[in-house]
Amino acid sequence: MRFSVLALGAIVAPAVIVALLGWVSLRQWERSAELLRREQARDMATMAAEKVEMALRHVEDGFVERLQATLAAGVESAALDRLLAGEPLVRALRLLDTRGAILYPRAASDTDRAVARRLADAALAVRGAPGRRTIVLDGERWIVVTMSARAADTLLAAFAYDADVLRRDVLAASLASLESATIFVVVDEQGRPVWAPASLEGAERLLSVAFRDSLPNWQLAVYQPAGSAPREAVRRQVTIFMAAFVVLCAVIVAGIAVTWRLMRRETEMARLKSDFVANVSHDLKTPLSVIRMFGETLEMGRVSDEPRRHEYYRVITREAERLSRLIDNVLDFSRIESGRRRYDIVPTPVEPLVRETLEAFAYPLAQQAFKVEVTIAPDLPEVPMDPEAVGQALANLVDNAIKYSAEDRVLTVQAHVEGDGLVLVVADHGIGIPRAEQVRIFDKFYRAGRSETQGRRGSGVGLALVRHVAEAHRGSVTVASAPGEGSRFTLRLPLADGGAHGDA
Ligand code: ADP
Repeated sequence: MRFSVLALGAIVAPAVIVALLGWVSLRQWERSAELLRREQARDMATMAAEKVEMALRHVEDGFVERLQATLAAGVESAALDRLLAGEPLVRALRLLDTRGAILYPRAASDTDRAVARRLADAALAVRGAPGRRTIVLDGERWIVVTMSARAADTLLAAFAYDADVLRRDVLAASLASLESATIFVVVDEQGRPVWAPASLEGAERLLSVAFRDSLPNWQLAVYQPAGSAPREAVRRQVTIFMAAFVVLCAVIVAGIAVTWRLMRRETEMARLKSDFVANVSHDLKTPLSVIRMFGETLEMGRVSDEPRRHEYYRVITREAERLSRLIDNVLDFSRIESGRRRYDIVPTPVEPLVRETLEAFAYPLAQQAFKVEVTIAPDLPEVPMDPEAVGQALANLVDNAIKYSAEDRVLTVQAHVEGDGLVLVVADHGIGIPRAEQVRIFDKFYRAGRSETQGRRGSGVGLALVRHVAEAHRGSVTVASAPGEGSRFTLRLPLADGGAHGDA
């Protein structure tokens, strides 16, 4: 546990720090990228606005020049009409004298005259100033220029642009050719777009710059196409980074969990092995000392009556049997572990095998007053098996049933056919096995409920052997048990020789 906490700390803490540093530097990068972007956009916008104004000025200059040339011969309607016909950009032209009277067009309507008056008022106010003025009247922009006609008459020329032609010939021509990731939009004094190159769907308005003299109150707005802002780039980076980080953390945690499990398993195995050595040594010693004690007593001739002597012989035989069973178990176990255990499968009559196995336990069963119930189906066929191995497995089950019985001493042994398999059942009314341990008891060295089994001798390899024998015969062993109610082990072996494992 300490190891995993340490490992987590050692790996996750630096990872978190790296993530935080990454986050901070990304945010800084985002801020400076944003600043830079605004600066660039402002420069670009100023440049574009200048370009538009230059283009407009160029067009205007040409027109004013041509107008001046036409007026050199005096205010002649026909000549002026001709001039206008060749200037699609100029929608309307008014020529006024310094008192505000309309000189051109001659057939002016009343509204024209009203407009002309106001134009003259506004224009006269700026008459003294050099150059051109832009005057907005009822939403219409008029460019007012002071000119001289034939002789030295000063007159005012006011002209208005055709919006469509302005858009097409000036705005589009100047702005569409700009190669830039940003979008330029010309907006009028009310913020309505006058000209925009593409759809502004999802685009973000960055800033806007004002035009100077030629397009007063109009602005050039700069838009950022959707998804191209540094913020979005940062967001994408953060998403990728977070995903990678989560995967990294998951891998680290999984690695630690696996290592921890492995370590625990190794520690547990080491503990079980040392228990095993202690248990086996104890198991070997106990019958040996009994045999020795009884042997010595007999040798010294201290037991005079025959039945007692007979009893002593039986004890010695029983302990010797127990000893050889234990040694067989350990040897078999080591053969299994090293993969050298071989099984000799031959057709075997079942009843004699069961009875012989039980015979070996006749003494302890009788001594502990066990109620033994043996039910063997009468018409059992011969079953392909290694009789020695199955006998040993059965003996282990019976030995356990005796070992783990308490006051209610009942041993049930059954043999019958179920489906296409032989079923051998060994049941007791003993201490039982908690549900959680029922899987593990078949593991090598494992001994369930340590406190309960502590007083009982055992090495923890008996059931591991039973399972190995069962599986080597392509059969199985299962247990049904409840603490305090007893256990029922079922060994299933197939009736047909399905080609048992020669070794394992
Ligand atoms: P052991 O030498 O400890 O008996 P086994 O492999 O034979 O080893 O059995 C493993 C464990 O399973 C035992 O320690 C015991 O806790 C439990 N066990 C086996 N058989 C029985 C049974 N008939 N009743 C209760 N517990 C049993």
